[in-house]
Amino acid sequence: VEDAVQVAERIMQVLDQPFLVESRELHSSASVGIAIAQPHYASAEEILRDADAAMYRAKSDGRKRYALFDENLRHFAQQRLELEREMRHGMARDEFEPYYQPIVDLAGATVLGYEALLRWHRPDGSVRAPGAFLGLAEETGMIEEIDWRLYARALTDLRSLAPDDAYVSLNLSPRHLLAPDFAERFLALVRDQHAEPSRVCVEVTEGALIDRKDLARAALETLHRAGVRIMLDDFGTGYSALSYLQHFPLHGLKIDRSFAAALESAGRRGSRPIVRAIVAMASSLELEVVGEGIETDEQRRALWTLGIRQGQGYHFGRPAPLRHWLDAALQSSAV
Ligand code: C2E
Ligand code: MG
Ligand code: MG
Repeated sequence: VEDAVQVAERIMQVLDQPFLVESRELHSSASVGIAIAQPHYASAEEILRDADAAMYRAKSDGRKRYALFDENLRHFAQQRLELEREMRHGMARDEFEPYYQPIVDLAGATVLGYEALLRWHRPDGSVRAPGAFLGLAEETGMIEEIDWRLYARALTDLRSLAPDDAYVSLNLSPRHLLAPDFAERFLALVRDQHAEPSRVCVEVTEGALIDRKDLARAALETLHRAGVRIMLDDFGTGYSALSYLQHFPLHGLKIDRSFAAALESAGRRGSRPIVRAIVAMASSLELEVVGEGIETDEQRRALWTLGIRQGQGYHFGRPAPLRHWLDAALQSSAV
């Protein structure tokens, strides 16, 4: 173990030096996973798999460090493998489906659109939200396939969602924006499903924009030119870099739900001063603002007072399958 740790430290030290690439200085860091050869290993692949698991632990512990494969990690790695296997089965059995949550006008609660939110229907009848599997789906790349199927489904569902001019909002995995043909493929899907581009909205997080700004911008420009709306999701939690707001063709911002939750707290610890500033900035950049995570009428009113006109949250409706919204529409038309 000591030998391995020494080697790991040397590797990290060397890779910590800046690189000169085309006369630019680039900084990088290494995370190292260590697995020690033991009799129970039957092949090199098995040791590498465990070293890989340790490397992911080193990364999630903050990068620039090493981690040793141990019993905890074995357990963790087995769970990951199991989850990955289940997800592949789930895809084969078409267990993933969109739920819809309304986005409403905060004055009268009329529905403006619906956000499509991924749900996993397990064979045991339970329904899982993305928190439990999105990370692994991203890492393995499975999210791409899952997303494409979900988009197709949501664009079809859009035809039956009320009112007639409601839009559907789709979350984009950061991976999509790295694929050079993403925008064309997306627009082809919109056409194939006979969806009006102006009734389609995509939500991206800042994390999806930092890696390859040029690629991301080109893709978003193509969508924007076709009439698809682009919203920046979870605004206020990440870098909230102001330059992004100018650099990308955004239609608006979704203020992260942590701000709605913190409205009640007083003074600087409350979120009001920041929400007020975000609204002022958005209005001078002509960006729409949607408040997320509105759970009570007090929160709705407080956000309204701060100048927010659109929102979503449990107060207006929880994410629910298509048939729920179809039933709701039937009932209200019967009344
Ligand atoms: P998001 O896009 O910010 O979605 C909003 C999340 O807040 C959803 O969680 C929603 O169920 C939850 N939410 C809505 N109203 C309230 C409320 O009043 N209170 C609270 N506490 N929560 C509320 P969910 O469905 O678990 O999704 C989590 C994240 O997973 C999403 O965050 C989005 O980033 C990602 N995601 C969801 N669906 C997809 C998808 O189809 N594809 C991809 N790539 N990512 C998705
Ligand atoms: Mg979203
Ligand atoms: Mg959000």
